[in-house]
Amino acid sequence: MTTEMKENLLDWLRDAHAMEEQAEKMLTATAERLENYPELRHRIEQHIQETRHQAEQVRLCITRLGGDTSAVKDTTAKMMAMAQGLSGIFVSDEVVKASLASYAFEHMEIASYRALIAAAEACGEPETKQICEQILGEEEAMANWLAEHLPATVKKFLARDETEGAKAKR
Ligand code: MG
Ligand code: FE
Repeated sequence: MTTEMKENLLDWLRDAHAMEEQAEKMLTATAERLENYPELRHRIEQHIQETRHQAEQVRLCITRLGGDTSAVKDTTAKMMAMAQGLSGIFVSDEVVKASLASYAFEHMEIASYRALIAAAEACGEPETKQICEQILGEEEAMANWLAEHLPATVKKFLARDETEGAKAKR
């Protein structure tokens, strides 16, 4: 592996690490606010645990390759995640917006790990490749769960929104 290749791989791993930190913040903000959608909340809480582990695994890949995690990028990502979490306060259909945002975010993660798997393969880094494949599986499982449960969430939101006194938005 050339120095340039390694730098690219490290850059993308740092991006993935920042993405996982952002994911943790976003998912935590969402889970904390969900009151009337316990199934969704439970699945998100489960994915928060997975996400923490993913961030740690990616961090280990970075240190194994001799890099360090960029504090600057991580801070920006955390601020963005906080903004996204707070944005729920201002919408009347928070649970639906959060489902869409989470669904889109999981696919961003899927794309990132697919790219990392190819990069790790090209760099001859089987450990990194294997970790990224494992994480990819978890992201796909989460994306599939969200896709499967989106119709029920939307229908439940609409039904609650019709009912006097029921809080629909979250
Ligand atoms: Mg993740
Ligand atoms: Fe994820």
